[in-house]
Amino acid sequence: MIVLKFGGTSVGFADRIKEVAKLVSDGQRKIVVLSAMAGTTNRLEQIAGFLSEKKNVEANEIIDICEKRYLNTVDELFSTEEYKKRSKELVKSHMNSIRSFTVDLFTVFEEKTILAQGELLTTALFHFYMKEQGQRAALIAALDFMRINSDNEPDSNYIKENLNKLLNEHSSEEILITQGYICRNAFGEIDNLQRGGSDYSASLIGVATDAAEIQIWTDIDGMHNNDPRFVEGTQSISDLSYDEAAELAYFGAKILHPTSVLPAKLAAIPVRLLNTMKPDAPGTLISGKQKKNRITAVAAKDNITAIKIKSGRMFLAYGFLRKVFEIFESYKTPIDMITTSEVGVSVTIDNNKHLKDIVLDLKRYGTVVVDENQVIVCVVGDLVAENNGYANKIIEAVSHIPLRMISYGGSNYNVSLLINAKDKKSALNSLSKKLF
Ligand code: ADP
Ligand code: ASP
Ligand code: MG
Repeated sequence: MIVLKFGGTSVGFADRIKEVAKLVSDGQRKIVVLSAMAGTTNRLEQIAGFLSEKKNVEANEIIDICEKRYLNTVDELFSTEEYKKRSKELVKSHMNSIRSFTVDLFTVFEEKTILAQGELLTTALFHFYMKEQGQRAALIAALDFMRINSDNEPDSNYIKENLNKLLNEHSSEEILITQGYICRNAFGEIDNLQRGGSDYSASLIGVATDAAEIQIWTDIDGMHNNDPRFVEGTQSISDLSYDEAAELAYFGAKILHPTSVLPAKLAAIPVRLLNTMKPDAPGTLISGKQKKNRITAVAAKDNITAIKIKSGRMFLAYGFLRKVFEIFESYKTPIDMITTSEVGVSVTIDNNKHLKDIVLDLKRYGTVVVDENQVIVCVVGDLVAENNGYANKIIEAVSHIPLRMISYGGSNYNVSLLINAKDKKSALNSLSKKLF
């Protein structure tokens, strides 16, 4: 069994959906995980936002735009009147269910239900299309097997048991289609695996079915050695280790959702990143193999806040770091980077929800300086201490840019630099020039 996940751009309009259909129709049994059509989840978020503010007119305008787009796609996708009619009815029923949420009380429940409609629609339409094409395809509802627990972690046993039960029920079908991103929570309510989480769905499904390979199909030929949205001439990397891929995904390489690497790593299932527009390009293979002696890639993570806690006394002797970390723990706020000196410690966070309270608590232990609008630039590769000179090269490449923090030695695979957001593009470009 293999798992193939197609992202929003891969199912963004009728011709793309037809390409995906061709790609998966090779006679092999497989699970196809689909995201919502590109842009849909953003629109659904907007709709939910308007509805929660009781701006029903504005919400309805966007619902109408979505409906039109889907109805056009149906016209272009299907060739028979029967499937056109069935699909249009389906689109209208989903849109009407969103329209019905113009209720008095708009809660998280309604919001999550609205956010789920994109994936529910693409998979249902894709299923109809495969049937129209005469393929042996079945739709398996993610809401019947994908579940997170009360800590928002996937419930692996539940997923495995229920997914395999559903697969057995459809043992004669070749193409098993399901939704990425959406799931149920510990209360059985509709929930999701966070934005971009379809990659995570694919990974969890791959592990639950002991797949031979997890394929993430997107709009670019694999992981590039720098962010193609900011650097020209970036190149595809043929192979990455799980650790390298996880670092890059965590530090901003949008092609892969950060949580999606670990389950595959633990189950030793290879992950392949492929391009729907260029299916013959080799893409990137992520596996347990670590290539030696190379700097592999650069990524950047936005919206970082740096917090420096300076103690006048020799607090760092012992106990000080524990007290500082406990404050972040109490607000469930993870720390990304950390550097220490005799008199202080600097940390970064990417979640400012509790920033005010955290700062207030930290002030008990010293003076606190907060810098918002920072970026972590992360260089990934075989960066063990014995590879003398690599760290040097990295720092040299950004010698024209003020460095707020440097972190090296936390793992064997990364050097992280904290810089101002305005210097990001320049840093990424000069790192590419000097390192590749
Ligand atoms: P999908 O909708 O298929 O999930 P995403 O937009 O989430 O696609 O991810 C693909 C995008 O990730 C690419 O179009 C590219 O702009 C962006 N990206 C950022 N960093 C990298 C990188 N290092 N390598 C490849 N793509 C990257
Ligand atoms: N459709 C969801 C999103 O846009 C999930 C995904 O694309 O992975 O975030
Ligand atoms: Mg994505």
